[in-house]
Amino acid sequence: MLKLYNTMERKKEVFRPINEGAVAIYACGPTVYNMPHIGNYRSFLMTDNLRRVLEYLGYKVNLVMNLTDIDDKTIRDSKKAGMSLKGFTEKYTKEFFRGLDMLNIKRASSYPKATGNVKDMISLTKKLVDKGMAYEKGGSVYFRISSFKDYGRLSKIDLGKIKIGASVDVDEYEKDNPQDFALLKSSSEDEIERGIYYESPWGNVRPGWHIECSAMAMNAFGPTLDIHTGGVDLIFPHHENEIAQSVGATGKTFVKYWVHGEHLIVGGEKMSKSKGNYFTLPEVVEKYGGDVVRYMFISSHYRKQLDYTDAFAQNAKNNYQKLKETLENLRFALKEKDSKSYPKDKETLKALSKIRKKFRDALSNDLDNPEAIKAFHELVHLANKYLRAGKNSSVLKKMHALYREFADVLGLFSKVKDEKIPENILNLAEERELARKKKDWQKSDELREIIRESGYIIQDSHDGPKIKIV
Ligand code: AMP
Ligand code: ZN
Repeated sequence: MLKLYNTMERKKEVFRPINEGAVAIYACGPTVYNMPHIGNYRSFLMTDNLRRVLEYLGYKVNLVMNLTDIDDKTIRDSKKAGMSLKGFTEKYTKEFFRGLDMLNIKRASSYPKATGNVKDMISLTKKLVDKGMAYEKGGSVYFRISSFKDYGRLSKIDLGKIKIGASVDVDEYEKDNPQDFALLKSSSEDEIERGIYYESPWGNVRPGWHIECSAMAMNAFGPTLDIHTGGVDLIFPHHENEIAQSVGATGKTFVKYWVHGEHLIVGGEKMSKSKGNYFTLPEVVEKYGGDVVRYMFISSHYRKQLDYTDAFAQNAKNNYQKLKETLENLRFALKEKDSKSYPKDKETLKALSKIRKKFRDALSNDLDNPEAIKAFHELVHLANKYLRAGKNSSVLKKMHALYREFADVLGLFSKVKDEKIPENILNLAEERELARKKKDWQKSDELREIIRESGYIIQDSHDGPKIKIV
């Protein structure tokens, strides 16, 4: 039974999807106007983590993540760069996808672009105007927040601060400034000159950021979806406004579970482009490796702030390394041909199923990754102990399969299988091991040399020999 913390209710709830066995998730994707920083990727990774856990628990997941390719920031910065909005946002869309691959983030079912859905944004706005929930002013159309009785329920804002009739044009504004917000913005002369406009009943406009997500989410899933994700900074005003627009238009529940990821911080402050306290993903991946960065992010609970420091990253790297070495040891031991001669160890098998239960229970408890990773390290400890004591092949296979199961859910070691060591090298290594056991050091050294010439090295350790690619 999966439990998720629902921001709307501020508590963990049992997850029950609309359609049994299937889950519809909408995730706020990147605003493609710069190289995303590692804080952004922490949020994207949180959604990937959720998706993988749902799949692990047997759900079929339909994940849609939007690309914000038209808003205040993309328009402003494409102009600064002297580029067309399209060329500019395409460049950063590519960067975004490159980053997903670095972190082994699974692709969503689709990535709708805001610019591809403007018709739906205009018709959604029309519905709201027809219902008296939105109004035109100076060629722009605003949502009348006083017309929506549940406004503020998600973010728990102080409704006493609402200034009736006052409106705000920018997409991002502070929580203590709840005002009527823009659904469609009248395109400026400059925007019209640059081709950034769409015809509407209210003249030439371009969409505001908030209406984009309502239109794209409902386009993908209809009026109600199971889960909506994003970083905590999106709770207000973005998600509050999405609810107002969507429920305002359809009269139906928009989202059943709101899942928000906490921030990545540096020196006590949110990592953000505007503060300049950010690191890009390529520079951090260059330093530690993509898998380690992924491990670092998922090893903290998604609802806790993560303070990014070198020491934190280094610690993650060391722990990650422990997991990786054990995987190599297991893979090597599995290739040994005399493994059947060891007796089956029932105690070890029992311990394996206990560890598996721990791992699943932890993830089912609002994605408690730290506890799940503890269970993973327990498996590693058990495996290393077992590799020293006995090597029954069926026990080893079970151990390796469980290791793979954990690694797949966490999205780690996906590349390890690509580094397959060829059969002939494994045979030579075994021959060498036999020679060593017979204390035939000359033969053992000769074989080591042959293996080395083929591009592999053998390292002897107290857990037995390991083969590595040079
Ligand atoms: P943006 O590209 O600015 O629209 O942001 C994309 C995602 O990154 C959103 O879900 C934000 O909530 C999230 N985000 C932005 N800054 C951080 C941060 N420092 N830590 C975690 N998530 C963040
Ligand atoms: Zn959004």
